[in-house]
Amino acid sequence: MVEPAQRRKRRGVSPEADVNDDTHVFYRNPFSYYPTVARGDGAYLYDEYGKRYLDACGGAVVSSLGHSVPEVVAAIKEQLDHVEFAHTSQFTNAAQEKLARMLTDRAPGGLNHAYFVSGGSEAVESAMKLARAYWVQMGRPDKWMVIGRDQSYHGNTLGALAAGGNRWRRAIYEPMLFKAPRVAPCFCYRCPYDKKPESCGIDCAEDLERAILEAGPEKVAAFIAEPIVGATAGALVPHPDYFRRIREICDKYDVLFIADEVMTGLGRCGSWYAIRQFGVVPDMLCLAKGLAAGFVPVGATLVHDRIVDTFSSRRHIFQHGHTYMGHPLAAAAGVAVIEYMETHRLVEKSRKLGDELLARLHEALGEHPHVGDIRGRGLFVGIEFVADRDSKTPFEPELAFHRVLRETAFDNGLVIYPMGGTVDGRRGDHALIAPPFVITRAQLGRLVTLLVKSIDQTLARLV
Ligand code: PLP
Repeated sequence: MVEPAQRRKRRGVSPEADVNDDTHVFYRNPFSYYPTVARGDGAYLYDEYGKRYLDACGGAVVSSLGHSVPEVVAAIKEQLDHVEFAHTSQFTNAAQEKLARMLTDRAPGGLNHAYFVSGGSEAVESAMKLARAYWVQMGRPDKWMVIGRDQSYHGNTLGALAAGGNRWRRAIYEPMLFKAPRVAPCFCYRCPYDKKPESCGIDCAEDLERAILEAGPEKVAAFIAEPIVGATAGALVPHPDYFRRIREICDKYDVLFIADEVMTGLGRCGSWYAIRQFGVVPDMLCLAKGLAAGFVPVGATLVHDRIVDTFSSRRHIFQHGHTYMGHPLAAAAGVAVIEYMETHRLVEKSRKLGDELLARLHEALGEHPHVGDIRGRGLFVGIEFVADRDSKTPFEPELAFHRVLRETAFDNGLVIYPMGGTVDGRRGDHALIAPPFVITRAQLGRLVTLLVKSIDQTLARLV
């Protein structure tokens, strides 16, 4: 059956209204702008009219196992047969105990504790509040600031938004956000210091020292960063020495380092945790998205021994909490996801297929006049689009290139995750490609073909 034309009608949001236009509808209208998803199977989603979409981004980089995985569905059902919920202030449950072990066994040394919540923003809020609470325990109550980076995203709750550098998401909430410094991003294609890889002195890492000294080390509790930046800039892979230097600076000034792996964690970048690839151990590590791969909402903050020990030795509790912490269904889903990933060697697959995807994209788009950069790690790939390749000039925001690309791809049966604001929070367009780890080579080929077609159709419409 063909989708009715009225349903396909676009909302016609003004390009001025919202740079990224990943706004979410309130479900009150008789029908919404988006098609109704009816079912999923592996790398594909189907709408109610039977139209098939290759899910090349897992929504917002969530569905790392693809859709409708029987083993995960069975584990959730089995948990439901036993108990659906018991509050963590009264009971623990076997699923969360097991998931905590699985996550910490795979984590870099010392991250031996898991704090379960319901999503990425909650994981980040928990980490930031725990950083503050830790310094209070340590007798340094002036330490409260969390320093983040420009071109970063840590969630939409007020604390997470304040730490992030996603300008358009912050914009109207600025008066409500805590004031703390933000430092330069590690954005090699558009180096904020105009350096080339040959001359790079990782000045962007040194910028953290400047910010800490300016704010006063006695006030800074933590620094937060995504190991590979996702939503705001499209899979920015840092210089290999960047995080080593960040760790040194944090240690020098007694600043905790929070790795936000909400997007990059659990195999997405070709290792269980992306930060491992940079040889440093954070004090806390935030997870969500791939943790239960979209089967149930969940988040977690992994915490280093030295922080937890500080609370235990003083018999203090961390004054924080949410109702659905350690939810048995979410934990059962998380356990099943990790077991499935082990059985099918999906972390390795993410690494290998990621290399293949990058190679195919370079082959298909490497010389494209409007593709400025192709970057990423594992099955976490970003493409940055430009009006002019030599000068790296972005498209004018009024064109809303990323939005037209998203709609064009959608019409072609391809779901990708394009966004604007890559350059200065207002200009610039990129797309994230993050297919499920179970994608086949043939599907990977189809992804590239549909993507190239969608880019060319978008350009034909706009330029
Ligand atoms: N941190 C990062 C790096 C993210 O990419 C996101 C979401 O995209 C979040 C935090 C917020 O997660 P959630 O939307 O589950 O609250």
